[in-house]
Amino acid sequence: MAARTILVVGAGPVGAVAALACARRGHHVTLLEAQERIDDSPRASTTQPPTLEILAELGLIDEYIRVGLVARTFQFWDRPTRRLIAEFDFGRLADETAYPYVVQTEQHKLANLCVARLKGKVHFGVSVTGVSQDENQVRVETNRETFTADYVIGADGGRSTVRKSLGIEFEGYTWPERFLVITTKFDFGAALGCCARNYMAGREEWTNLFKVAGDDLKGRWRAVYNTREDESDEEALSDVAVRARLARVFVPENERDYLHLNLYKVHQRVAKQFRKERVFLCGDAAHVNNPIGGLGLNSGIHEAWHLAQLLTEEKELDSYERIRRPLNIKYVQEQTVANKKRLEEGRLEELREIAADPKRHKAFLMRASLIESARDAIRN
Ligand SMILES: Cc1cc2nc3c(=O)[nH]c(=O)nc-3n(C[C@H](O)[C@H](O)[C@H](O)COP(=O)(O)OP(=O)(O)OC[C@H]3O[C@@H](n4cnc5c(N)ncnc54)[C@H](O)[C@@H]3O)c2cc1C
Repeated sequence: MAARTILVVGAGPVGAVAALACARRGHHVTLLEAQERIDDSPRASTTQPPTLEILAELGLIDEYIRVGLVARTFQFWDRPTRRLIAEFDFGRLADETAYPYVVQTEQHKLANLCVARLKGKVHFGVSVTGVSQDENQVRVETNRETFTADYVIGADGGRSTVRKSLGIEFEGYTWPERFLVITTKFDFGAALGCCARNYMAGREEWTNLFKVAGDDLKGRWRAVYNTREDESDEEALSDVAVRARLARVFVPENERDYLHLNLYKVHQRVAKQFRKERVFLCGDAAHVNNPIGGLGLNSGIHEAWHLAQLLTEEKELDSYERIRRPLNIKYVQEQTVANKKRLEEGRLEELREIAADPKRHKAFLMRASLIESARDAIRN
């Protein structure tokens, strides 16, 4: 194998994993990040079993688990009546994976773990402004200098400059509502008897409750809500509206203080192409989706791992787009849209039946964990 010069744009979790995976395969890697440090806003935390297998191959798994929380189960609740409807148990996947659980570790911790192992290869404060290429190399223009590389991995997020420089369309749509994340120290587990990952359905408003470790490892909860379509950002972020939302997930009045608020636009979009000659798109640069089910980042990490392997073999580079694009549509876009619909419609009875039937329970988990997607990738 010839060592190649590979430039990765964006030190989010996907770019950081792509850079580390390529460096460990002996390539000359440079990772460029526009910000001065890793972004630590509260986004992904749920890490699915096939992703844990990749992190194990990268030598990160022990530390990753140490700074997160292991969660074997997830639950569906009917929020208005405060009833637990169904529980799914990853323990049923024990004969399918070495990691029959998810790990709740905030995504900035993953990026930081990778960056710590990429000493001297990461440049912060370097913003890519354009990408051009000929048959031999890629030129990457930045706010500082011009870089050249054999291959470029664009992992620069949903607004990807790399994707735009290549003129690749980002097909799909943006949902009219936004998602609000309230971070609090209130212990929903103790108060409601719920587990670390909970989906609470409701017709006008649903809430998802997740426990994460926090930087101090003392534990935090994230409560994620849909906003009303006609609700302004200011209204959604107002103290009155936030406290009212906490009241609707049964937080007592004297415990409605919160640590952070984040409001996100939500999209379902897939790039028309994942590759143009020597440049590849990975993670949110290639696709974005609503976060219900915890799939977007996971699929991005699977792509980064797959791509590092293909670039090392330098064969069948076309297979990257041929395999990964349909996989994202089938296992991430379709599943997250269905997950959102289920919560909005409060249609949980079917889940109770699935959870009660061992065969259907396992089949549901095989898809929800992305194990089925990972197996499909190998078959192709
Ligand atoms: C509320 C919420 C919860 C979520 N929960 C989950 C979950 O549990 N599980 C899951 O799988 N997914 C989840 N997601 C999705 C997940 O957060 C994203 O899929 C993930 O951030 C994608 O990582 P990325 O590295 O591709 O992009 P990003 O995290 O967006 O990183 C891109 C990086 O590129 C940098 N950059 C941008 N432009 C340039 C440039 N021109 N030059 C250099 N650098 C640049 C940015 O500064 C950034 O650091 C969630 C999302 C949200 C909003």
